[in-house]
This record gives sequence, structure tokens and C-alpha cells, in this order.
Amino acid sequence: MEKPAIAGGTPVREQMLSYGKQFIDEQDIAAVIDTLRGDFITQGPAINRFEQAIAEYVGAKFAVAFSNGTAALHGACFAAGIGLGDEVITTPITFLASSNCVLYQGGTPVFADIRSDTYNLDPIRVAEKITNRTKAIIAVDYTGQPCDIDTLMKLAEKHNLIVIQDAAHSLGAEVKGRKVGAIADMTMFSFHPVKHITTGEGGMITTNNEEFYHKLLMFRSHGMTKDPDLLHHNDGPWYYEMQLLGYNYRITDIQASLGTSQLTKLEGFLDRRRQIAAAYSKAFNGLEGVTVPYQQADHVSSWHLYILRFDLTRFQANRKQIFEALRAENIGVHVHYIPVYKQLYYQQNGYAGTVCLESEKLYEEMITIPLFPTMTEQDVLDVIESVKKIYQYYQL
Ligand SMILES: *Cc1c(COP(=O)(O)O)cnc(C)c1O
Repeated sequence: MEKPAIAGGTPVREQMLSYGKQFIDEQDIAAVIDTLRGDFITQGPAINRFEQAIAEYVGAKFAVAFSNGTAALHGACFAAGIGLGDEVITTPITFLASSNCVLYQGGTPVFADIRSDTYNLDPIRVAEKITNRTKAIIAVDYTGQPCDIDTLMKLAEKHNLIVIQDAAHSLGAEVKGRKVGAIADMTMFSFHPVKHITTGEGGMITTNNEEFYHKLLMFRSHGMTKDPDLLHHNDGPWYYEMQLLGYNYRITDIQASLGTSQLTKLEGFLDRRRQIAAAYSKAFNGLEGVTVPYQQADHVSSWHLYILRFDLTRFQANRKQIFEALRAENIGVHVHYIPVYKQLYYQQNGYAGTVCLESEKLYEEMITIPLFPTMTEQDVLDVIESVKKIYQYYQL
């Protein structure tokens, strides 16, 4: 028999603890005010400074900032030449944007299943999905732990595919001593407030490929260029030439100056995230029926999310009840993510027959618990106490 969804007694916390939250200090505010007082609030020098800072941080040659991470992914699909009939392999366990960006270009997302341990795209499943129409792989560094990028790059080389790394979760993460951002053909970062650093809304593509770099720059701004070296025709100094169909996906100088200021604090943010994750894993490791995040050798996570997985055969509750019980303790838990192909739009547009068993099983069993750098020691203890309270209440 299942128990009611509320463990009862006094909630562990009085106020809801969110699962993620930005940290903005006086230095950030001063940087934004400085820009507001300056000559350029958009299309000015702060954008290039932010791009340079990110490129340098990840060790990439080029970086192009966008109005948000989704626009950046759209740009990457454009630069990769994705078009009608092209297939792009990606994971179901991600935010909608990782696959919607393929649809924007008229391409076809193909979902490959995840590994049962890291929850990242399984290269073996990816290989099975490759056809003569496959053009690219969009691999997500889920929760901040880098995907099997070296294996995927080898696979891509063999089949002549482009690899786009969706690193919305993994700014600062490392694979065998290399930072995420200079390994794949193109890497996308997001600066939404729940991510590692924020610009309010914002995104970036890093790449070592100069051709991609120029395409991304043009795509971000209506497909036009003023670069005299790139013009096919030139009426004079005012001349601008639209060479392809682009969008207005520009970031502002206001946002970029916030991003550059935030980046100076990234190492501290990462340290604190790692500390909290370690405290969680230590507290939950011994709980039978609860799986803490598995960490792959040589992969250093940037810990965007902390996922607990429940073996539901050991509880008198389903995931929904455990979720609701944690919310009743005022712990702002979430679920990341609903497998993308399960969404109504995808179901209605050709994905009704898609099945990725590992992804669906993970979806049934997982809960995201709060993790952000400004959590206090007490916040961390409250989360641990709440999980243990619910665990004891529902344990078989
Ligand atoms: C946040 C996120 C995005 C999209 O970024 P936005 O800046 O919100 O557009 C894409 N992929 C993943 C995995 C994300 O978490």
C-alpha cells in the first residue's frame, strides 16, 4: 500500500528553497552601470570582451555570443549546414532546445538512448542510429558531467559528422585535463540565471573552426556582413551585404558586461557547487535504493544539477509522491528532464513510436535536489534532513 504524499509533522524548512539561483554582487552591478553610462548598450566593445574572455577560459580560438543559448544552438545547426532531410542524433534527457534547434533548420532529430550510469548519450546507441543522412551529433553534458566526447569525436570522424556539444550545464567542466569548449567542433554555453554564470538571458558558441566562426557571426545578425574582405560587391564605405538568411540573435553590451564580471567569480562558484555535491553524496551514498550521481574517471563535473535516483521497488511510493513530499518540506525539487520525444509536439510529429528505455526509466525514478553556490550550510543540511525524513517514511 502506498502512503499519503505528505510525511507530516513540521516541515523541515519554513520557506521554499529553490533548486537553482544566480549570485549577483556589487561588482556585477557596477559593471552593468558602467555600460549603461557608456556609449554602447548594444553592438559595442563589451560583447567582444566577453567573447574573448570565454574563449580564453575554455581554450578555444573563437567565440560568438548570442541572445540566449537556444539561439546559439540554432546558429550552430546553421553553421553545421543542417537542412531539410538531415538527421542529427541527440539525447532525450535534455532541455527541449537541444533538439528544437534541429527542427528550426528543417532537420530531423534522432534520439539515441543514454548510458545507465552517467545518463549521458551512449556512444554505442549513437553508432546504431547513424545512417547516410546523419549530419551531426548534439551531445549534452548532462548535469555538468562531460559526455563521452572523445569517443563521439572518433565516431564523427569516421562518418564525417559534425559534433556540437551542448555545454549549457558544463562551463568549467573538464575531460582528461581539457576544459569543455575546445574539444567538439562547436560548443554551446547558456547564461540563463540557473546556469553557472548569468547574463539574464545569453548564450555562446566556442569553436576552433574559422569557417564556422564567420557563419555564426553572420547568422547572429541578419546574415549580413560589412567586412570588405568578404563582400562580393562594394558600393562604398556604407555598404553592407546580406549573403544568407540570418536573424537578430545579438546579445547586448549590458548583458555582456555582466557576463564578463560573472566569469571572474566562476572558480568560486564551481568550488562551492563541488563542495555541496560532495556533502550530498556523502550523506546519501549509504541509503539503499537511492543512487547518487556516478562520476566517470577523468571527467570533472561542473555540477550544474544534482540528481537522486530512487529504486521504486524499495519504496511505498512512486516518484510523484516522493517529489510532493519533498516539496511539502519546502525543498524546491524538480525533474530534469521529460524525455524530449514524449512531448506532445514530438508525439504529434513523427515520434510516437520512439522508445529509449534507459531514458524513460531514468525519467520515472529521478528527482533534482537544490544546488547553487549561495546555498548556506543550513540549506544543505535542510535538504539532507528532508531527503532522509522522506526516505525513512516511505522505505519498505
Ligand atoms: C539551458 C539549456 C539550454 C538553452 O539555453 P537558454 O539560454 O535557456 O536558451 C539548452 N540546453 C540545455 C541542456 C540547457 O540546460
